[in-house]
This record gives sequence, structure tokens and C-alpha cells, in this order.
Amino acid sequence: MSAETKGKYWVGFDLGGTKMLAAVFDDSFKPLVRKRKRTKAQEGAAGGLKRMIGVIQSTLVEAGIGAEDLAGIGVGCPGPLDLDNGIVLETPNLGWKKTKVRAELEKAFGCPVVIANDVDAGVYGEYRFGAARGARCVVGVFPGTGIGGGAVYNGEIIRGATGSCMEIGHIPVIPDGPLCGCGRRGCLEAVAGRLAVAAAAATAAYRGEAPHLLVRAGTDLNNIRSRALCESIAAGDTAVENIVREAARTIGWAMAGVVNLLAPDVVLLGGGLVEDMPDLFRDEISAAVNARVMPSYENSFKVVVAKLAGDATITGAAAWAQQTVESRSA
Ligand SMILES: [Zn+2]
Repeated sequence: MSAETKGKYWVGFDLGGTKMLAAVFDDSFKPLVRKRKRTKAQEGAAGGLKRMIGVIQSTLVEAGIGAEDLAGIGVGCPGPLDLDNGIVLETPNLGWKKTKVRAELEKAFGCPVVIANDVDAGVYGEYRFGAARGARCVVGVFPGTGIGGGAVYNGEIIRGATGSCMEIGHIPVIPDGPLCGCGRRGCLEAVAGRLAVAAAAATAAYRGEAPHLLVRAGTDLNNIRSRALCESIAAGDTAVENIVREAARTIGWAMAGVVNLLAPDVVLLGGGLVEDMPDLFRDEISAAVNARVMPSYENSFKVVVAKLAGDATITGAAAWAQQTVESRSA
């Protein structure tokens, strides 16, 4: 351990593909100050790290504290990670390779730094402070452009030997199905992620079957985001509603396999599509999981919608840093 715990404040950091978000928390995890900045992929890893340090520094200044008051920093990161060494191995959107996030931040702030997968951090945040509080086992699934997954079991984030796991979006659901961003075929996210949903909805709009969507968003996938889908359904585009419901059911079928493996007491739903259409997703996924699990697991779990929204990853990263740092020194 290269740095010691000194203060009582925690920083949570969410490193996203387009923006970074930092917050300072007091020792009861009340956020004191939040700062957001664009990530700027073109700056590369060195520029990006400098930017991360700058955002954290300005958050500390605004909170009126110094680095010496920090107990630790937790960072939620995308992409494959070397968790024990605090290294971001690769970020598809940022172009970082083997970036030593922990070492650089520990050098800059002199406190312990813990990195976690961003979805895992979000699920942990909901487990500590949100919709999955106190669950023995919570499995989170976050349908968005990809379909993120994470799980907390007996108070610990489930992880692999070196990196994160629970890649629910890459559960194979169709043999030789559509090509996935990961390079394989037939993954859940290639069938039921936002891009697949938007592509099907664009086709419906093009065919004249989704007039409200056509007016709101046209047929460009960039514009067919969860809000546009939600508004077109509310305006009466049943073709779009059927597409979204089918995607939710497909997610539910895949989740039935996860329930059979882990027997969670809570299935947590989040992400952009769920935030805009919480009832539709909760109802479809709940029904689909219950229809597919082994009968003894029927209704053995709650399906809940995430509560912390944009704060889940920063809060969870900060709280996971606390859990990790305190269990190291115990
Ligand atoms: Zn895949």
C-alpha cells in the first residue's frame, strides 16, 4: 500500500467516454460538491489524466478542503481493468492503453486510490444507498447503447481474478445472431441494446409505421435515443412500443439465466432506456424472468429501478474505495 488514510472525506469519480464527473463526499457519503467536465478523447491518456487531476483539485477547492483531508478516491472506469494494480487496460472510446490511473492519482493526492468498473460502481452505489440497499445479492442490468451488468454479493462486488466480470450484455442469446461490438455474434446487446432497438425503430419509421418517431427523430440512429423512443410510444407509435417491449423481454430471458446461476434477491434495472420508461422495462423484464427461471426461483427476487441516476457511479466508487481501504487495514 503506497499511501495512507489521513482524512475523512472521499472523492468519487466517474470517467465516461464523453464526460468526467467528480464529487467530494463527507464520511456519511453526502455529496458536498460536484464537478463535470468534457473528457476530450483527442487529448490521449496523459492529457486525460491531467484533466482528471484538475477536476478533482477544483472540486476540493470548492469544498474548502485539501488533499490532506482525503481518506481516499474511488474511480469508476469503462473498459477492461487491472483492478489490483489500478490500471485501465483499454478504453474503446478514449483510446487509453495500460493507463496507470491509481499510481498517477496517488502521486497527485497522496491518498489511497481504488478503481472499479463503472457499472460495478453504479450497482454498488445502489446497494449502499439506493434501490438495492442491503440486498444479499443484487444483479444490475443497465440497457443503453451497450447493456452493462454488475453484481454485489454479500457486500462485495463480484469480480474476476484480475478484472471485472458480469458482462450481461455479452451473454450469447442467438446462435450466429447479429454481430456485436465485442466482435462475437448474437450477444444480448447486439439484439436488445439501444442501437438494435433504434435500428428497428428507424426501419419502422421509414416504412411509415412510426409516424410520431419520424417527425421527432427521423431515421438517423444518432437521434433515436431513449427520450425520442419514449415520446413516440407515448404519442401512439405502437410499432415502436412493440420493438422496445420485445427488447425488454429478451433482456428478461437472458436475466433468467443469471437468476438461475446466482439466485439474487434483487434485480436492479438502470440506464437511459429504463430511466425514460421505468414501468415498461420493470413489467416486461419481471414477467419474462419469472416465465423463464426454474420454477423454484419464480418470484424469489424483486425487480427494482435504480434511484441514484447520474450519481450512482460517483457515489458507489467513493463508497467502494472506503470498503476496500478499510478492509485492507482491518
Ligand atoms: Zn458481445
